[in-house]
Amino acid sequence: MDNVLEVTGLTTRFTKESGTITVVDQLDLHVKKGETLGIVGESGCGKSATSLSLMRLLDNNATLTGSIRFNGKEVLALSEAEMRSLRGKEMAMIFQEPMHSLNPVLTIGRQISEVLHEHEGESKAAVKQRVLDLLTVVGISRAEEIYRDYPHRLSGGMRQRVMIAMAIACNPSLLIADEPTTALDVTIQAQILNLIKKIRRDIGMSVIMITHDLGVIAEVCDRVMVMYAGQAIETADVRSLLRNPKHPYTVGLLQSTPRQRAKRLHSIKGSVPTPENKPNGCRFAPRCDRAMAICWEQNPELRPVDQYSSCRCWLFTQDKGHVPEGSVVGG
Ligand code: SF4
Ligand code: MG
Repeated sequence: MDNVLEVTGLTTRFTKESGTITVVDQLDLHVKKGETLGIVGESGCGKSATSLSLMRLLDNNATLTGSIRFNGKEVLALSEAEMRSLRGKEMAMIFQEPMHSLNPVLTIGRQISEVLHEHEGESKAAVKQRVLDLLTVVGISRAEEIYRDYPHRLSGGMRQRVMIAMAIACNPSLLIADEPTTALDVTIQAQILNLIKKIRRDIGMSVIMITHDLGVIAEVCDRVMVMYAGQAIETADVRSLLRNPKHPYTVGLLQSTPRQRAKRLHSIKGSVPTPENKPNGCRFAPRCDRAMAICWEQNPELRPVDQYSSCRCWLFTQDKGHVPEGSVVGG
């Protein structure tokens, strides 16, 4: 099978006292074996809600609809027990702040051992050796020492390495990394990204890299999905997206990414609409310099633009949908 993950029409809603809000809206995506898909967008675009939906790690006021097919199984149809065995073993996740995911009162060795015990069932000595091997794989040279250490004694970069060791302990086929380097210094960031690339190659897993930073996307991803206000607004292979971005939001994100030769750093005016206050037409219209009459009335669909990319924008939609009479459609 070529695709490890196939998501169709994924929609995530939260029920609150004030009503129901949709944070992920009819999302389609797929990840091939061994591929890294980037999901990029500003905070509040639905990136983390997407990753937590894929792992079914949302609070119980959330409702998921659509389909998440992972290694041939429908994730939305699994029981809680089946889901627990799938998490970690087949689909693993790392987060921005490893301290929140590590238990402060247990040694590193104990925490990684527990992940292994939960899924396999080997002798104590064999488990310890596997933990030491894993620590070495993630580039920790003083493995014996770190094995006995507690999380607070490690630097942020070391803690993220430990999280990666835990995530890959059972050879998952998919690793979801949600802003894994955002809290780290630039040099440590690069080391962690290189580590993720190396491990992906070595164990042949697929990766979903969630980030607000197109620099990270450029560094590690094969394909990219740009999210805005809960929807995919552009998907493309990484070269095509960086060289020839289509959607005005993607263009704005690129112009606000520091690059060595950039003369001036732009920022996109305004902010992401909240799920309660989404515009009726294109969700980016209030911030878009190229908005036309139709943009305020109808939200365009995600359509293929060329062989490399798809885009949700009236500028790239040939038939312009059902154009309301009197609308000015340009492009
Ligand atoms: Fe801008 Fe219109 Fe395209 Fe939306 S559909 S991004 S408002 S040009
Ligand atoms: Mg987030």
